[in-house]
Amino acid sequence: MSANDVIAEDMVVSIHYTLTLDDGNAVDSSRGREPLLYLHGAQNIVPGLEKELAGKKAGESFDVAVSPEEGYGPRMEGVEQKVPKDVMPDELEIEVGMPLSAHGPDGQTMTVWVTEVEDEHVLIDPNHPLAGKTLNFAIEVVEMRAASAEELEHGHPHGPGGHQH
Ligand code: ZN
Repeated sequence: MSANDVIAEDMVVSIHYTLTLDDGNAVDSSRGREPLLYLHGAQNIVPGLEKELAGKKAGESFDVAVSPEEGYGPRMEGVEQKVPKDVMPDELEIEVGMPLSAHGPDGQTMTVWVTEVEDEHVLIDPNHPLAGKTLNFAIEVVEMRAASAEELEHGHPHGPGGHQH
């Protein structure tokens, strides 16, 4: 790879990011830890951010506001469900904000989030906690390299910062 390379399909890219919501609240950042590693073109990251990263070079920094439609999707209303605690595994320490695996109406696996914990029940919501929000990213492209055949097959990066398996 040379200094003139730009981000394109089938490259493993590492970025530093800070994610801020419109209320000014910084909800997530890679600063102070290892950069995030992702496989470009494999939908490892939200579509609006992946689109903006295409064509960028190592060392470049930029800001982008990603709409909910190109982020975690619009927020669906009235889809929260009350679930009795006794159907949850005993060993599970349930907390607000925790993602859980559930089975959807057609038996497919889906992720839901705990939004409220009561004495006998928990409220679960299939909306991602960032659904319906504009995502303001501050990005720095750290480096990039060609993906290996195995990474392309798996659809994610391997090695430090990637999947270890
Ligand atoms: Zn893998």
